[in-house]
Amino acid sequence: MSEAPCIVLLPGDGIGPEIVGAARRLLEALGEFKFSEELMGGCSIDAHGTALTDAVLETCRGADAVLLGAVGGPKWDTTDPDAPRPEQGLLGLRKGMGLYANLRPVRPSPALVGASPLRPDVIVGTDLLVVRELTGGIYFGDSGRDGDTAHDTCEYSVTEIERIARVGFEAARRRAAGSGSKPRVTSVDKANVLVTSRLWREVVGRVAPDYPDVELDHLLVDNAAMQLVSRPADFDVIVTENLFGDILSDESAMLTGSLGMLPSASLGADGDPGLFEPVHGSAPDIAGQGIANPLATFLSAAMMLRHGLDRADEAARIESAVDAVLERGLRTPDLAAAGESAVGSDEIADAVIASL
Ligand code: NAD
Repeated sequence: MSEAPCIVLLPGDGIGPEIVGAARRLLEALGEFKFSEELMGGCSIDAHGTALTDAVLETCRGADAVLLGAVGGPKWDTTDPDAPRPEQGLLGLRKGMGLYANLRPVRPSPALVGASPLRPDVIVGTDLLVVRELTGGIYFGDSGRDGDTAHDTCEYSVTEIERIARVGFEAARRRAAGSGSKPRVTSVDKANVLVTSRLWREVVGRVAPDYPDVELDHLLVDNAAMQLVSRPADFDVIVTENLFGDILSDESAMLTGSLGMLPSASLGADGDPGLFEPVHGSAPDIAGQGIANPLATFLSAAMMLRHGLDRADEAARIESAVDAVLERGLRTPDLAAAGESAVGSDEIADAVIASL
């Protein structure tokens, strides 16, 4: 029998310990895992004076996967540029773990399609994944200001494009495995204007023959932004560069209408551990009240199983259990419509665990 995977839990601050605690119970109910729980974010600043210690980074690098809650809160908000900040821990982890691909799935639970700002007939059936390049492009190119002029440079290399394209194709394959549907990748660029985008399109096209089972099409980013709200259900995997991905992943996130439901993953080189976390923050306004919605963290654990540990069957069990519980009408306060009654974190977590 293979050894139990080693998972580092980084609960963080605010509601982090509540939602990660619930996710640990969920994983324990699902199978054998070895957990190591570490400090990162504001809690680490309090204990060690820094948001991420070298020792914790090393532990994360040596694990099979890392599951994070959220970091930050008013206690550590400061205008002192020299004071440590919780989000430095996140940046340190991304850099130290070499995470270059951000994955954000958007799959509104059938029971929650009413929460979307789009009409139910437009949103129903939506199940897409935005794969965003995380370490290149205009955010990391040369920039500067000279009097009345400023510039930001967008640069991409063949290597950077090729590795993110492969993440997109592989993710499409994993999502389609066992479903009977043909995996599809939509590469988004601005090749009619930008030279970096023309290189992007060329390289993605060159990688595609390695994945003959995956259908590839290309869309210009302005067109993609429109199609995402007019026919979201037609997308499977969207792969794009850093700036376009930043914007399109937030646009896609809004399709569900519920922040407490959105998971994400950041991946590095093949075989290295990934980082899995809900999209929302540490929600200090509701911390300690037992009403935080743990479902985005549950769905992040599902992403960890599928994309980080190659355990797609267990990922699907979590996703189905979440759907089943919502179908039965259970809602945490953030999901409840006006007049609808709500349950606490423990109750919804127990219900999901019982439905596995
Ligand atoms: P937030 O996502 O924490 O909260 C926004 C609103 O959504 C709040 O009303 C909150 O109560 C609610 N909410 C968020 N997650 C919820 C959940 N799981 N269940 C129920 N309600 C939920 O964003 P914010 O208020 O802008 O930021 C709060 C803190 O979190 C800040 O310190 C910010 O820097 C930090 N933050 C951290 C991350 C991260 O760790 N990745 C991401 C975003 C914000």
